[in-house]
Amino acid sequence: SLVLGIETSCDETAAAVLAGLASDRNAAPTTRLLSNVVLSQIEEHAAFGGVVPEIAARAHVAALDGIIEAALSDAGTALCDIDAIAVTAGPGLIGGLMAGFTTAKALAFGADKPLLPINHLEGHALTARMTHGLAFPYLLLLVSGGHTQIVLVRGVGDYARLGTTIDDALGEAFDKTAKLIGLPYPGGPNVEKAAFAGDGTRFALPRPLRGTARPDFSFSGLKTAVRQAAESVAPLGEKDVADLCASFQAAVRDTLADRVGRALDRFAADHPSVATPTLVVAGGVAANAYLRDGLETLCREKEWRFIAPPLSLCTDNGAMIAHAGLERLLAGLIPDVRAVFAMAPRSRWPLDESATPLVGSGK
Ligand code: ATP
Ligand code: MG
Ligand code: FE
Repeated sequence: SLVLGIETSCDETAAAVLAGLASDRNAAPTTRLLSNVVLSQIEEHAAFGGVVPEIAARAHVAALDGIIEAALSDAGTALCDIDAIAVTAGPGLIGGLMAGFTTAKALAFGADKPLLPINHLEGHALTARMTHGLAFPYLLLLVSGGHTQIVLVRGVGDYARLGTTIDDALGEAFDKTAKLIGLPYPGGPNVEKAAFAGDGTRFALPRPLRGTARPDFSFSGLKTAVRQAAESVAPLGEKDVADLCASFQAAVRDTLADRVGRALDRFAADHPSVATPTLVVAGGVAANAYLRDGLETLCREKEWRFIAPPLSLCTDNGAMIAHAGLERLLAGLIPDVRAVFAMAPRSRWPLDESATPLVGSGK
């Protein structure tokens, strides 16, 4: 099957074409990524220090046609040869979602193709099956600009959220921390870069929720602690900024190890038949090499397998949406056509909630 994926939930306009074949029950489909076009709007938002929803929506509208055309032509294919169109229908910024979903509806209607509304988080959750052929079940740590969750991935459309943040998402904490110590947007990569030269032991920052039973997260107190530490040494020199960033990252790394470690232990206890439990990390924060190394170390200690998809597939992209669509297609999880066309995009959409009624029972 050939699936076109379209993603516009935040500040990347993206489209991709993925080819794939079904495999056995829990095994991942065999896939080949034929194209993956991502247009980042970072420059449009940088002057404002963050994503401006109205600017994002307009930029998506302006870019979508060209990005979709580029994805089709890079793949050496045309819309008429596509078997299905997968599009992000939520969660995310509503203006961008409307731009993408409406465009996908028009394409699907005009070319008479099935349309699959995809939960953006499902795209992140299933990426490791595309990149590593990973079989179900596995544990996912999703750390992005809008989400911080530990998810048990049991099958296509079968997810259980084991833990989540009770306040800020981790990417958001990176971005806010960057802002309050004067680093430019986007904060995450700039904090990481500054931290290379820093001393992570200089500032004693909290490790929020460490030791609590449920693998939840909390990052807003950490951000406040960074602000207080910054105020205590203001005005900030280059060395202070580096040390603050390194200390922040050290606190995050410890926190992730504790929280994820708990979830890993629980997964292993609940799934004795899974020989090598696997942890997958996804979302934009997974681009952080220092945090990835911390998770890798944790998994080595616990004799777990650790998977981090390539950076270009950790941040938002159309390939992961095409892949989620392909998986749904192959699993027979085909949504009712009328329900899809009647569906409005959802700015909030928990991963464990299904959006539209399905044709038949699927699987
Ligand atoms: P969501 O997927 O929850 O809707 P999103 O689409 O904004 O949110 P992504 O595009 O997956 O999230 O990731 C963007 C986030 O990742 C930003 O908060 C950014 O600061 C963070 N990020 C990117 N690179 C790094 C890095 N090297 N270190 C830490 N954080 C990073
Ligand atoms: Mg993004
Ligand atoms: Fe994302």
